[in-house]
Parts: sequence; structure tokens; C-alpha cells
Amino acid sequence: MSAPTLVDYDEVVERFDPVLGLEVHVELSTNTKMFCGCPTDFGAEPNTQVCPTCLGLPGSLPVINHAAVGSAIRIGLALNCTIAPWGRFARKNYFYPDMPKNFQTSQYDEPIAVNGYLDLELDDGSVVRVGIERAHMEEDTGKSLHVGGATGRIHGAEYSLLDYNRAGVPLIEIVTKPITGTGARAPEVARAYVTALRDLLRALDVSDVRMDQGSLRCDANVSLMPRGSSEFGTRTETKNVNSLRSVERAVRYEMTRQAAVLLAGGTVVQETRHFDEATGTTSPGRRKETAEDYRYFPEPDLAPIAPSDEWVEQLHSTLPEMPWEHRKRVKAEWGLSDEELRDLVNAGALELIEATVAAGAPSSEARSWWVSYLAQQANTRGIALDALPIRPADVARVIELVAAGELTNKLARQVVDGVLAGEGGPDEVVEQRGLKVVSDDGALIAAVDEALAAQPDVVEKIRGGKVQAAGAIVGAVMKATKGQADAKRVRELVLQRAARE
Ligand code: ADP
Ligand code: MG
Ligand code: ZN
Repeated sequence: MSAPTLVDYDEVVERFDPVLGLEVHVELSTNTKMFCGCPTDFGAEPNTQVCPTCLGLPGSLPVINHAAVGSAIRIGLALNCTIAPWGRFARKNYFYPDMPKNFQTSQYDEPIAVNGYLDLELDDGSVVRVGIERAHMEEDTGKSLHVGGATGRIHGAEYSLLDYNRAGVPLIEIVTKPITGTGARAPEVARAYVTALRDLLRALDVSDVRMDQGSLRCDANVSLMPRGSSEFGTRTETKNVNSLRSVERAVRYEMTRQAAVLLAGGTVVQETRHFDEATGTTSPGRRKETAEDYRYFPEPDLAPIAPSDEWVEQLHSTLPEMPWEHRKRVKAEWGLSDEELRDLVNAGALELIEATVAAGAPSSEARSWWVSYLAQQANTRGIALDALPIRPADVARVIELVAAGELTNKLARQVVDGVLAGEGGPDEVVEQRGLKVVSDDGALIAAVDEALAAQPDVVEKIRGGKVQAAGAIVGAVMKATKGQADAKRVRELVLQRAARE
């Protein structure tokens, strides 16, 4: 199929109103799976975390993971949802090799949490409220590895390998109501939603929310309707978009692709689509099944879930400070502007700075290290700030050494370089690289006298009252001591020693 000609984005949003629907799957970080006692650790040897239940062997019986239900309820509460007082799991019947039971145990028409909302703050400071239709519990599938093809997808592969370690890991699917009225900002809103949801889930400590490892996955539904119309168009569902940036790109691409189809007089096909990170385009997946295809029926092997009011109340009392409240508090405490706060949140530096402050550093210095020098280092290495091999406590220690006059800013950067290079903690690096500020007068006087002897003309000037001339000598001493001298003390000594002769 040849790639459709795309329409200019400005024209797309002039002619059409986009409607979005975001489905986010989040893997819970419970110790065990949803319906059995198998561990859920990521990255284990294939098929080592399986048992008769998650492999769907005959005669095995599932048991509901209580902790997972608790997490689901806390997520629902944090999203301002109503918690269902009673609900059953359902069997969603289909065959796929990564699903050994031949059905997925899910919640269908009796989800645990319904009808909530999440407020997002966009970059310009405006707030968009996204309606939450439902959050329901289900189990993850196994993983297929398609070998031998060029793309890693099933098409063109020679054979496939299956790993059932993930089969049965607790999942929560969070589904938005249709998001309308966002116009040209639809891609930005999609990204902001997934970002806000990720931050919320992280604050709840229910998942490690690693999009790169698949513990947070987003499917983006997009449709277009003629500008001003209120009748939704046909949607496509772009699956498993696995980074925040991809969410934004995928929505934008789908909008332009669908506009091109519609403007050429065609119709949008309801289907799942696959997002290609490399090209930033989507390609057709499968035609969308309808609910009837799945022959849902209530799971007969599991008792209904009926969380008591007391339990829900108790879970409610465990909700942490919400990320937006948290940001507001930090902003006030640190005296930041909206922009400063946003920059540091976008840089992924908020938690790191807080941890550095918690380790004893003043917030201004902590902030300055993480958003400038360390951000540059992360950037050069092409990694996230929190992946840099330095701990907030190390940064706090460096800040402390500077404050104590034991390191200059320049030396401090060398110490940080040493820590990043794996040479140990700040004190070890100072020791091994010999980076301490030289402030003991004995060593400094020798260096000062040497510099004075080398520049008699400058000495004359200083004696004649041109105190600024001392700068040249200070510079020479700093150079001779490789920047390790205490510049203030050097200056004092230069004036004293020059006057002496
Ligand atoms: P499915 O079973 O097809 O995944 P879901 O109900 O789980 O359906 O999710 C569909 C998502 O798409 C929801 O977020 C819903 O609000 C959204 N949606 C429904 N109709 C449209 C539409 N016409 N355009 C865009 N999004 C839509
Ligand atoms: Mg769905
Ligand atoms: Zn198991």
C-alpha cells in the first residue's frame, strides 16, 4: 500500500475537529501475578515465572490478588472515580499464542472504577479536564518474539518464541471518555494526559511506569469530524505507543493521515494501527473486533469483588499528596516562577533536586547542578537525567564541599566528572585526583612569590597604587596551581607580598 499524501497540519485543524480516546495499560508492581502466586520481576529467564494457573492448564484455579485490587481502587480514587461496590471478572475469549488460557480474565461491564476525571496542565499554563470512563482490572498476556524478519513484527518472521513470564501480571486499563474540543492541541493534550497519568501512578507507587519496559502502554484512538460538527467520525486505534513523544507524534500523524483520506473523498477504516518510531508513521494492523466477537461471560471460577466501604475508606486515607499539589508546594517553598518549575519538571529533575535537598543541600544550588551541568552531561550521553551514575547524596556532598571552601566551582565540576566516571563518591574523587583547594599559606606564598618575580612590571603598578593590576598575578597563580588555589586568599597574599619588597 502506498503512503497517502499528507495534508498540512494547519489545514487539518482548520477543516476538522479531532476526537481522542486514550487507553492506558499499566502493569502493577505487585509481588505476584493477578490470579496466582508467580513472581512478576521484569527480565527473568523466559518461562521461569509460570505455573499451572497462568499457563491455563486444566484443573488449575485462579485466586484474586488482594493487593492488586487495592491498587486498582486507589487508582480509581485518585482519578476521582466512583468505586463499584460489587463486580465480577469476565472471560474475554480469543485465541492468540501469547495467551495460553485462550481467554483473558478481564472486567467487562462491571469495572472496579467508573466516571472520574484527571486535570492536565498544558505548557501555556491552561488546564484541560479529561473525563475518565473507567478503570478496570485484567491480566497481561505473555510476550511473543518474532524472529527472522526485518521488522521484528510477525509479518515476514521465520518463527516466533513465546515467554509466558508476563502472562497473568496484573494490569489496570484506564480508558478516557472521548476528548473533544482540543483542536490543534490534540497531540499535546494526548502527551500531557499520559504524562500526568504516569506521574500520578508513580506518586501512588502502584507501578514502575516504565514505558520503555512496557509497564505503561498507551493506545491512542483518533477520529476527525468536520469542523463544527458534533457527530464523531470513525476512529482508528494506534497500539502500544511506547514513549511520551511517540504519543504526541502518533496522534498528529493519524490526524493528518485521516484528513488526507477524508479530503480525497475516502472513508476512514475502523482498525488498529501500528506506530513506527523510525518513520513517525502508522500502518494498518487488524480490523477491529467488536465486543460480540469476544463472547464475554462472567468468570465462573472467581468470586465477585465486593470492596467494603471501610476498605475503600481506608485505601482513600493512603492516597499520597497528588503530583500537582506537590508541585505547587515545591514551587512556593523554593520560590520558583511557573517557567522555572515547568523547566525542571520537563527535565525530569524535580525528584532528583528534592532528594538532593533532602540530603542537606540548599534548593538553589541543588537546582542549579541538576538543570545545568548534570543536564548537559545527561544530554551528551543521550540518557535521562535520573540514569546518570551519580546519586543526589553525592551532589549534596559536592555542594557542601564548595560551601565549606574546600572546592571551587571549577574543582567541583571535576569531582562530579570523577563520580560520573565511576571513580567513587565525591570524597574519594577529591582524594584520588588531589582536588582539594590549596589554602594553606605555605604553598600559596611560594606560588605568589614566583609569579611576582616573573612580572616585576606588575609589581611596580601595584606598588604605585594600581590594585586592579593584582588580577594578572592572581590569574598566574591560579594557573600554576591548576585552579586549586583559594582565589580570595591568593589575592590577599599578592597585595601583601607585593607591598613587602
Ligand atoms: P476498544 O474495546 O475498542 O478498545 P474502549 O472502549 O476500550 O474500546 O476504548 C475506546 C476509546 O476510544 C475510549 O477512550 C473512547 O472514549 C474513545 N472513543 C470512542 N469513540 C471515539 C471516536 N469516534 N473517536 C475517538 N475516540 C473515540
Ligand atoms: Mg480497550
Ligand atoms: Zn502462575
